[in-house]
Amino acid sequence: MSWTNFHSHSAFSDGVKDPEEHLLAAIQLGMPAYGFSDHSPIPFPSSWAIQPEDFSRYCQMIDELKETYHGQIQIYKGLEMDYIPGHFDLNDPMIRSANLDYTVGSIHFTDFLPDGTPWEIDGAHKPFLEGLSLIFDNDIQRMVKRYYALTREMIQLSRPDVLGHMDKIKIQSEGGNLFDEHALWYKNAVMETLEFALKEDVIIEVNTRGTYKKATNLYPSPWILKEIHRMGIKIMLNSDSHHPREILHYFPEAAKILLDIGFDQLWVLWDKQWQPFPFDENGVLT
Ligand SMILES: [Zn+2]
Ligand SMILES: [Zn+2]
Repeated sequence: MSWTNFHSHSAFSDGVKDPEEHLLAAIQLGMPAYGFSDHSPIPFPSSWAIQPEDFSRYCQMIDELKETYHGQIQIYKGLEMDYIPGHFDLNDPMIRSANLDYTVGSIHFTDFLPDGTPWEIDGAHKPFLEGLSLIFDNDIQRMVKRYYALTREMIQLSRPDVLGHMDKIKIQSEGGNLFDEHALWYKNAVMETLEFALKEDVIIEVNTRGTYKKATNLYPSPWILKEIHRMGIKIMLNSDSHHPREILHYFPEAAKILLDIGFDQLWVLWDKQWQPFPFDENGVLT
């Protein structure tokens, strides 16, 4: 009995340490399966995505780790995919030729600044406020609704296996200073997205990174998790680790929250297929 993690970053994107060091930590933790999901290369300068010239080396390295550690742990080659309408989605030829085992689809950009650069919504607060003013005339409702509309568009056009940190936009509103996640308009945007996720059969990840990095709660928030449970949408548990020591951060606590809500299954990529497994506070039963 142990945990799996399918949302992880190495030094190929904005994590630290080589993939092999992450894998050795996962083996040390007794994990039965591990997925690499560094940030996909994007057709814009970026300090945190895999650089396009490094992408084939990333794929090759994960393939080699599969060979080297065969029989010790199941290894999966994935990507955390951005979605930039008209510029980048899962149909990108470089991505399609990579023979990936799975993808996590995440929105990190919402539209473009006047100079044509995509606007990052999960970075520092000051550039966030600048874009909110320049692109959305400081209309936070319009901005957040656009974020969720892009999320739905990504699910439909990119068809990722997993929806990454679906309500990450809340980090820009710590303490509810920009919007209240219990406001009716916000709930409506979230609910529309959940209905879409259910229809398109995407797995929603429960991502613990906010709890140990941003001092927020889980992505998605517990009230959203209750709706996910009521609707019967598939979930999985991931840490979005950027360092080997973060691989299982906050898993027992998150599992307790999920069990209290009533969840009894987590989805895991196991024997090359997405499958549901029962879990408790000590792990998922593979
Ligand atoms: Zn992300
Ligand atoms: Zn990530």
